[in-house]
Amino acid sequence: MVVYLVGAGPGDPELVTLKAIKFLEKTDVVIYDRLANEEILKYADGAQLIYVGKRSGAHSKTQKEINQLLIEKAKKHDVVVRLKGGDPFVFGRGGEEMLALMEEGIQVKLVPGVTSAIGVPTTVGLPVTHRGVATSFTVVTGHEDPTKSKKQVNWDYNADTMVILMGVGRLEENVREIMKYKNPETPVCVIEQGTMPDERIVMGTLDNIAKKDIEPPALVIIGPVVELFKRIQTQRAKNKENKYKHTKIS
Ligand code: SAH
Repeated sequence: MVVYLVGAGPGDPELVTLKAIKFLEKTDVVIYDRLANEEILKYADGAQLIYVGKRSGAHSKTQKEINQLLIEKAKKHDVVVRLKGGDPFVFGRGGEEMLALMEEGIQVKLVPGVTSAIGVPTTVGLPVTHRGVATSFTVVTGHEDPTKSKKQVNWDYNADTMVILMGVGRLEENVREIMKYKNPETPVCVIEQGTMPDERIVMGTLDNIAKKDIEPPALVIIGPVVELFKRIQTQRAKNKENKYKHTKIS
């Protein structure tokens, strides 16, 4: 009766930790989300695999139903792995699931993962901090729970780099808010499907990024580090270095 809350990393199956693999190998059940790459389920040979993510057109489980399922499986089996994209505590509702299990007396162990918020920019060569350019970064959701009575995101962050997760659906209204505090010409980089074969990078500025064609899952990175990334790209071209073969820049 242990549930391992495990981060699956940002997508590339080689970005999973040894610890994640170790627990997948010994688990009886895996309960996994849409953003956890199914390729890593091969390590859970013989385990029961339960998908609880959203599928287009299909009804997805509510958080309450997922918590119930976790509790039920944990009571029945010695080891259950709850596998989540990136890191389980970065907008993954990992804390809620942990509490729900603990309230039933079930032991929860944590395995961090490479969060997309940092792992994806690093993979393409975009540093989220850089001496003289950015001394801080903030990671924020672009899709705050609309049922919440009081808005917590007010976009008034003074971090040099802003990384927005779940930022595609409300990009237009969010950038409009951000432009109240930042120059409309602040550079923006959007990375779709980071670390995956369909990875795509879209460059722009605060005042034009929402007009571009962007598909989730994607990260929105805002700030002077995006200018630095352009320098890095130019230097790569000069060095006749191949861009990552799966990365398309537009
Ligand atoms: N726990 C996850 C984040 C869950 S929220 C983590 O630590 O990465 C889901 C959001 O993460 C997506 O809407 C998207 O903004 C971002 N995301 C996750 N994987 C991504 C990827 N491979 N490429 C781009 N964005 C990604």
